[in-house]
Amino acid sequence: MSTLDIRDLHVSIQTEQGSKEILRGVDLTISQGETHAIMGPNGSGKSTLAYTIAGHPRYTVDSGSITLDGQDVLAMSVDERARAGLFLAMQYPVEIPGVTVANFLRTAKTAIDGEAPAIRGWSATLRDSMTKLRMDSGFAARNVNEGFSGGEKKRHEIVQMELLKPKIAVLDETDSGLDVDALKIVSEGVNRVKDETGLGVLLITHYTRILRYIRPDFVHVFVNGRVAEEGGPELADRLEDEGYDRFLADVEAV
Ligand code: ADP
Ligand code: MG
Ligand code: MG
Repeated sequence: MSTLDIRDLHVSIQTEQGSKEILRGVDLTISQGETHAIMGPNGSGKSTLAYTIAGHPRYTVDSGSITLDGQDVLAMSVDERARAGLFLAMQYPVEIPGVTVANFLRTAKTAIDGEAPAIRGWSATLRDSMTKLRMDSGFAARNVNEGFSGGEKKRHEIVQMELLKPKIAVLDETDSGLDVDALKIVSEGVNRVKDETGLGVLLITHYTRILRYIRPDFVHVFVNGRVAEEGGPELADRLEDEGYDRFLADVEAV
């Protein structure tokens, strides 16, 4: 069983005014089979955490560590992180002109497994995964993220996750821009991959809505660059009723 361990992580970005610290000592441990929700107000640093795990060059780790089964993730390239079993679905996925979904997925699978999947079995697997997410077969021939609707982007992410079989997936605002039907389909997809592969999930969200469909084992409230409170699913229910005001008042008082 794999474990992603984040210890006292401090991350900054460079702005025109100089260096700005965004993450101010984050501690989190996510094991395979567990679902952790990170919830918090806008601007609290949730996406910064996701990008830092992904290895985005814009974010500078000033101190602390991220390890996967004891291996130093921060020393790994973006590709190495994926091969090690980390999967990142980003809030703003990029277009890849001229690369079809089918080719993109096959290339990614080949890169991660170190060998190309057998053609016949692969086509069936891809078709099956797309069918379960209620995507029509023409989708595989489209260019990655080009003109995708919000729902199509998210479904495409879940297809990637199902085919690449990561150990730990970070899903940043997977619920943003989805109507209830799409939210249910995407959530079912996440739950199915969890059941099939024992995936560990770090689900980042501002809203509690998706947590009705993907039930977290642990909830972490993120405020001002660190975890302000932790609990079980009942904490999400409280946030649904009370919002983040209580935490923000604490920040202002500091
Ligand atoms: P969240 O995902 O919780 O809304 P973010 O991680 O996106 O929060 O942002 C945290 C803070 O860092 C915000 O104050 C935001 O303005 C700042 N920030 C993040 N990325 C950048 C960036 N690329 N340039 C300037 N400021 C940034
Ligand atoms: Mg610290
Ligand atoms: Mg964000």
